[in-house]
Amino acid sequence: MTLKTLRSILCLEIAGSERLVFFTFAITSDRFTYPMSIFNPYAQIDRVEYKIVVALERLSEAFRVLLWEKGKALGLSPIQIQLLLFIRFHPQERCKVTLLAQEFNLTPSTVSEALRTLEQKGLLLRKTDSADTRSHTLALTEDGVAVAAQVADFADVMLPGLTRLSETERAGLLEQLLGLIAHLQHAGVIVPQRMCFACTYYRKTDSGHFCHFIKKHLEVRDLRVDCPEHVPRKPHGD
Ligand code: SF4
Repeated sequence: MTLKTLRSILCLEIAGSERLVFFTFAITSDRFTYPMSIFNPYAQIDRVEYKIVVALERLSEAFRVLLWEKGKALGLSPIQIQLLLFIRFHPQERCKVTLLAQEFNLTPSTVSEALRTLEQKGLLLRKTDSADTRSHTLALTEDGVAVAAQVADFADVMLPGLTRLSETERAGLLEQLLGLIAHLQHAGVIVPQRMCFACTYYRKTDSGHFCHFIKKHLEVRDLRVDCPEHVPRKPHGD
């Protein structure tokens, strides 16, 4: 019997506490000497922030799986689905190759390739911009609109997990997630987002949040993640 095992058993008999046994096993395990990475399960034990990051990673994995599942039936790749949905629900001026590349953190050539495939499938029309012949306006065809309707529910399976939370809990979760997204934007990890915390019209007030576009106090539940009226805040704006 190794010293490590003996210490675990002694701890079990003396303390009778599952939590203490768990921690004793962890600190006597060789794995504890591994780097304090977010992805080391032993390092996660008493670091809630590590566990939240890992949980978010699992959620991003869920999106990947859901997109693949939806695309399989229709012969579409995940990025083709994301482009279809973005073009369906956003104004034409946002649907340019360079902006789409920024939106999805892809190279313009990868976006162009995906758009070309959608065009070949008869789901998308590209019209040359009369003011700038290097630029194209993108629009869905009738078939494209129909396919977008078919794929638009790809993430709906997540909703029951959220609707079982109270309204206050959901609003709190939204606020925390927006704060995390704002942090990632400031850190330069993601491109500027069309959300309240990054908007010229947004002000934090003593009583909460205020939008100068609609000139109204915003409840937490009213904060936007993808707002059509959003105007990016200047880097040194308040
Ligand atoms: S315009 Fe939209 S994004 Fe900007 S503060 Fe108002 S609701 Fe938020």
